[in-house]
Amino acid sequence: QAKDAGRNTLSSYTSDLTDRARRYLNMDVRLRQALEQDQLVVFYQPLLDLDTGRCSGVEALVRWQQADGSLVPPMDFIPHAEQSGLIHALGDWVLERAMQDFLRWRAAGVELDTLAVNLSPRQFMQPDLVSHIAAALERWRFPAACLELEITETALMGQGAHAEEALQELKALGLRLAIDDFGTGYSSLAYLKRFPLDKLKVDQSFVRDLPDDVAGSEIVAAVIAMGRGLGLQVLAEGIESRHQLSFLAERGCHAGQGYLFSRPVPESQLLPWLENNKAPVVQ
Ligand code: C2E
Ligand code: MG
Ligand code: MG
Ligand code: MG
Repeated sequence: QAKDAGRNTLSSYTSDLTDRARRYLNMDVRLRQALEQDQLVVFYQPLLDLDTGRCSGVEALVRWQQADGSLVPPMDFIPHAEQSGLIHALGDWVLERAMQDFLRWRAAGVELDTLAVNLSPRQFMQPDLVSHIAAALERWRFPAACLELEITETALMGQGAHAEEALQELKALGLRLAIDDFGTGYSSLAYLKRFPLDKLKVDQSFVRDLPDDVAGSEIVAAVIAMGRGLGLQVLAEGIESRHQLSFLAERGCHAGQGYLFSRPVPESQLLPWLENNKAPVVQ
């Protein structure tokens, strides 16, 4: 009986492995094709200045458009691209597409200061990241001061001197650096002193239960105060309600992003959204 069980386990183990390998390869092929055949699309979510209610920029967020028009969210394929290494090509594609869209909006007379683009941990570890970004800026004659790279705390940790060096070099290009999902990375706060950062993006998990959750409210208020004290811009992610907005604005949070203002929208919908929201959304 033990023998049978062993055999069963082994065969189900190997079939499970081949199953997983097949799914992995299949996903890899499809994602590569998606990239080559222009099935990826970049959506943009407005970033709002909470003092003035003005839209100061956008965050680029990638989606995978299926043949039937449905959209696969990034969480369903970015981790795979990270694992397979395709993230480098994918990240380059998003960056360059977003730069082109942004330049087109500016050429049309829209005042936007910031294009925020997410960098995955693996992209951040890439030794030629800095020359890569520099080349993209050069290729599109993109104003470096308008580009903001979003990096998670997790991506910075365990990198030793590399993280600090890479961040310094990126800053030297003239662009800006934001910590994404701030507060979720299980990291020490010491890096805030060492790294040349411009912005903290308070993770939406802290914003979600404002202002009823007392502990959550205290944490957010403390993060805002700390960020301000360190001379960083503080942006709250995931603002969905007026209550959350007024709590954040009262505590001095500089900026926000969330469904209350706008969901991420396709490129074609950003200008109409800006047109409709000329009167400040805030207040
Ligand atoms: P993120 O960078 O933290 O982006 C914010 C996410 O929160 C986006 O999800 C956005 O749609 C969502 N969000 C914004 N406002 C609200 C709100 O009010 N309520 C709620 N519930 N959600 C809100 P999305 O677009 O699904 O992206 C998820 C994550 O995928 C991003 O989190 C980012 O880590 C990653 N990602 C997206 N695009 C890229 C990319 O081009 N490159 C890389 N490396 N990662 C990307
Ligand atoms: Mg982000
Ligand atoms: Mg985030
Ligand atoms: Mg997030």
